[in-house]
Amino acid sequence: MNFDLTPEQRMIQESVRVFMEEEVAPFASEADATREFPMEYVAKMAKMGLLGMPVPKEYSGGGTDMISYILALEEIARTWAALAVIVAVHTSVGTLPILRYGSEEQKRKYVPPLAKGEMVGGFAITEPEAGSDAMAIQTKAERKGEGYVLNGAKCFISNGPDAGCLIITAMTDRSKGSRGLSTFIVEKNTPGFTIGKIEEKMGMHADVISELIFEDCYVPQENLLGGEGAGLKVALSALDGGRIGIAAQCVGIARGALEESVKYAKEREQFGRPIAKFQAIQWKLADMAVKVDAARLLVHKAAYLKDTGSRYTREASMAKLFASEAAMENATDAIQIHGGYGYTEDYVVERYFRDAKVTQIYEGTSEIQRLVIARDVIR
Ligand SMILES: Cc1cc2nc3c(=O)[nH]c(=O)nc-3n(C[C@H](O)[C@H](O)[C@H](O)COP(=O)(O)OP(=O)(O)OC[C@H]3O[C@@H](n4cnc5c(N)ncnc54)[C@H](O)[C@@H]3O)c2cc1C
Repeated sequence: MNFDLTPEQRMIQESVRVFMEEEVAPFASEADATREFPMEYVAKMAKMGLLGMPVPKEYSGGGTDMISYILALEEIARTWAALAVIVAVHTSVGTLPILRYGSEEQKRKYVPPLAKGEMVGGFAITEPEAGSDAMAIQTKAERKGEGYVLNGAKCFISNGPDAGCLIITAMTDRSKGSRGLSTFIVEKNTPGFTIGKIEEKMGMHADVISELIFEDCYVPQENLLGGEGAGLKVALSALDGGRIGIAAQCVGIARGALEESVKYAKEREQFGRPIAKFQAIQWKLADMAVKVDAARLLVHKAAYLKDTGSRYTREASMAKLFASEAAMENATDAIQIHGGYGYTEDYVVERYFRDAKVTQIYEGTSEIQRLVIARDVIR
């Protein structure tokens, strides 16, 4: 077994780290607080090729492996988790499903502009009545002429207001059960498609989430992704891949919480010595370090399995479950180590704490990850 990164993977890791430290970190908290989509930084990342890393070169992507992609996501999230989720949603669930299930025409039309970052992608499955339970989807797609008419609403959709195109799951025939869902590529400005309420939320402020509303929205047959009835398969496989990206984001948050805590514990003096000298603090730091490494190993294993074409559903859920819990625990410990200062907006750990919470919820809650893992364990 070889744990070494290749020279190319190390180069990607290093260049993203330098970019985040020098060009983003000084402005991240302020930019996040605006609660606006960070177009300036997304454009910079597009220029660096960070919006199409695992997309083959023939579709204008970087042609990298999954490991390189998750290394980049960890580096981005270490500084600004919301920026990482924008990239992860855009890439893992907004672009790669088109590459996997799209016709050649769909791939040629949508993947290059997505990979180059000329437009942002998104993925919408959640509805007010359908969160963990995708089969409860109410959005309907009815056949009409040479296409489908969509009616319904999605909620909590990342990149929603800013996406150039989105992958939408809708019910084409409820009587067919799990074969009754289908997936469509819907472009911004399609008549009948509007953006609804933009949510005010606890954290991840720059990850702007909104409702998507479909009122007699006509989508041509050529925008059906993966064939009629393939919606659940497309969504589940998109989420399998997506969970590796979110897990990498969590490793970034967990590591950020640790590194900020180490720095603070060495600087902050109480009782005449740095608090890092107290064993109570050292043990916290040790546990935090273990969680970062354990989470990263799970993420790298899942990414390796995806890279090598093996099944990875269970491993992606394990990585997402463990890494999101590690991110939340490390962010909580980071606040404790920073004491009262950690509770103020003067220190980034306050933002990390708010951002970490949602990683236990989106792309499948921790309970749903346990359900996926348990199903495989007892099968
Ligand atoms: C910031 C943010 C960004 C998001 N981005 C997107 C996006 O881009 N696209 C998208 O489609 N969605 C997105 N979502 C939605 C997200 O994926 C859902 O919120 C999530 O899947 C949970 O659904 P829910 O909120 O309806 O909770 P529910 O499904 O109602 O769950 C409520 C609680 O019940 C538990 N629960 C439910 N079913 C079971 C069960 N069978 N066994 C045990 N426990 C169970 C859950 O774990 C949870 O604790 C986003 C959400 C947020 C907050």
